Amino acid sequence: MISRRSALTLSLAAVASWPISRLLTEPAVAATKGKFAYTLSEAEWRKKLDRNSYAVLREEKTESPYSSPLNSEKRAGTFLCKGCALPLFSSRTKYDSGTGWPSFWQPLKGAIGTQEDNSIPMMPRTEVHCARCGGHLGHVFDDGPKPTGLRYCMNGLSLTFQPAKA
Ligand SMILES: [Zn+2]
Repeated sequence: MISRRSALTLSLAAVASWPISRLLTEPAVAATKGKFAYTLSEAEWRKKLDRNSYAVLREEKTESPYSSPLNSEKRAGTFLCKGCALPLFSSRTKYDSGTGWPSFWQPLKGAIGTQEDNSIPMMPRTEVHCARCGGHLGHVFDDGPKPTGLRYCMNGLSLTFQPAKA
């Protein structure tokens, strides 16, 4: 018997373990639809972001688990969108989910948007993106810790960390 969470983690791991170079050769998924306050042309995004961050933020790719240095970031501070620098998560809501992706139980107020993601057959998920630029951040699942019970499973490539001022 495999728990729902293990199944989920395994499927996600299977997807995410593809080398990102291979992911880059796949047809691009359209970036998050909708109008956003912060917009750039595709050429400007490519100039602004490194190749792997572009693949995550603008093409909804997933980084390999345990690949992000932000997994082990434990200092007090704020995690910002790498696309537009909007503050997204406080370090106070970060926790170790054991999945290999930076995980949080709550975003900052008004920082994110969500939409249905049915890109993996039989596995409906909720996609999470930056509320200001629409950049893809990751997904949210309902197996997180208290008090929200939510797990915001983020790609470290979509974030930058700003340590709190001492
Ligand atoms: Zn953004």
